[in-house]
Parts: sequence; C-alpha cells; structure tokens
Amino acid sequence: MISNSHRPLEHRSAIVTGSTSGIGLGIARSLSAAGCNVMLNGFGNPAEIERLRRELASQYGVQCVVNGSDLSRPSQVRDMVGQATSAFGAVDILVNNAGIQHTAPVDEFPDEKWDAILATNLSSNFHAIKAVLPQMKHRNWGRIVNIASVHGLVASTNKAAYVAAKHAVVGLTKAVALETAITGITCNAICPGWVLTPLVQKQIDDLASRQRIAVAEATLRLLGEKQPSLQFATAEHIGALTVFLCSPDAAQIRGVALPVDGGWLAR
Ligand code: NAD
Repeated sequence: MISNSHRPLEHRSAIVTGSTSGIGLGIARSLSAAGCNVMLNGFGNPAEIERLRRELASQYGVQCVVNGSDLSRPSQVRDMVGQATSAFGAVDILVNNAGIQHTAPVDEFPDEKWDAILATNLSSNFHAIKAVLPQMKHRNWGRIVNIASVHGLVASTNKAAYVAAKHAVVGLTKAVALETAITGITCNAICPGWVLTPLVQKQIDDLASRQRIAVAEATLRLLGEKQPSLQFATAEHIGALTVFLCSPDAAQIRGVALPVDGGWLAR
C-alpha cells in the first residue's frame, strides 16, 4: 500500500524498542520521516521522552506513542505489542533494537549481568517476534528488523554475554526468515560497527580512565583498533537501512545480517 516515494511507509505502523536514545531513536526518526506511525519504547526522563514523542508526531505528521515496558520481562514485551496494536490497529514493522552492554573477562563476568544481557538483547527479540507474528501472518505482510551487531558475526574480548546474545540474534533472524519464507513477512538483522551513542561513549570513557588518556585520544584508539574508516557509523545510517528493509524493493532480502561497520569485518 505505497502512497508516494517520499513517504514510502505511509499507513504503516512500527514498534522500535529502545528508541528513547541512540540508534533506536535514529530509526524511529527515519521511520517517522517515511510516514510510519511509531511506538517509542525505552527508559529515560519522562518529560524528555514526551518532548521526543511530540516532536516526531508534529514534525512528520504521524501518530507517535510511548511505551515504557522493561523488555527484560516477557510479560511486559507482550504488553508492549498489545498496546501498539490497540493504538495503531496493527503492527506492521517490529524493530528489535533495545540492548545493553557490560564488559569483563568471562571468568569474572557477573552472573546477573549475563542474565540481564541475554534477557534484554536476545530473549526480548524472541518474545516480541512471537507476539507480533500472528497478526503479520493474518495480513500476510510484515517487516522484522533485529539490530544485532558486528559482534553477532565476530567476537571481541571481555564481551562474552553481548557476543553470545548477538550471535544468537543472528541465528534467530535466520530461523524466523525461514519460517516466514513463503509469506510477505521478512526478517533481517543489521550489524552496526561503532556508532557514537551513550552505550559506546561509556566504553570510550572507561578506556580513557583505564589508560589515563584524553577522551579524544581514547576515541581514536577505539576506532583505530576495529573500524578501518576511522569514522563512526551514525544512527541515521542505520535508520536509512531500516527504511529500505521495510520497502517493497527489499521483499526478497530474507534472513541476512547486514554490516554497517566502516570496514570492521573486511579485515
Ligand atoms: P543506547 O544505550 O543509546 O540505547 C539503548 C536503548 O535501549 C535506550 O532507549 C534504553 O532505554 C533501551 N533499553 C535498555 N534496556 C532496556 C530494557 N530492559 N527495556 C526497554 N528498553 C531498554 O544504545 P545504542 O548504542 O543506541 O544501542 C542500540 C542497539 O544497537 C543495541 O542493541 C546495541 O547492542 C546495538 N549496537 C550498538 C552499537 C554501537 O556502536 N552503539 C554497535 C552495534 C550494535
């Protein structure tokens, strides 16, 4: 039901998890700009989140609603899908983006951090997909985009839970893509390299204090170690790719894990 090329997602409705900050907010903006109604989800200052909601709704003329579910809790994931369905009448697009990080060697990795990362970065994707698929199957149209990571395809040290969860997200993406292969529903993953968000700023600040160097120097070291372009990918880059994956032209892109990584995986 494509109405015009500038707003290719007019009449569609999306949930973007973890969209009160960083990459998720960039995706929510890109979807809204494409004419899509959006449910924002995540934590943060309620007044600031309400300001974002109003901004997206008025700037892009879409419906924008807020949901504060804690996605580490399966019942709250289901509530989020139910609320979006009531608000919009349908959920056509699900972007599983919410994620957290903790770094420590595996033999020192706190059990509760392992459990929290697996619950938020992996299990929430399963519960949201499970909750939304029946209505997508009923309409024979849907787009599921899972924000994995380059760490869904390769590992780094001190990120055991994150690497395990993101590899599993890539596996889940393929499994769902196969189960929906003869339908109008696609499921794909995006694998960002470094994107400068609060999640990464914390790792830069930790590096700066650990190595007693300036934040600018720590930023260059972080990029230089992994990302050959020496530039961050941006939330806008991830948002634009998400919009493309939701377009008719992407109908036969199924079960892939697309890097946006400044060359990280090329070496
Ligand atoms: P961020 O910290 O800026 O944003 C995370 C968002 O998730 C926030 O809106 C936060 O409120 C929300 N969130 C966290 N736990 C939640 C929970 N239990 N329930 C509901 N919402 C919750 O992080 P970001 O860098 O924008 O990361 C977004 C996604 O992109 C994550 O899945 C992350 O793993 C992935 N990613 C990020 C990078 C990067 O370089 N920033 C690279 C690869 C992948």
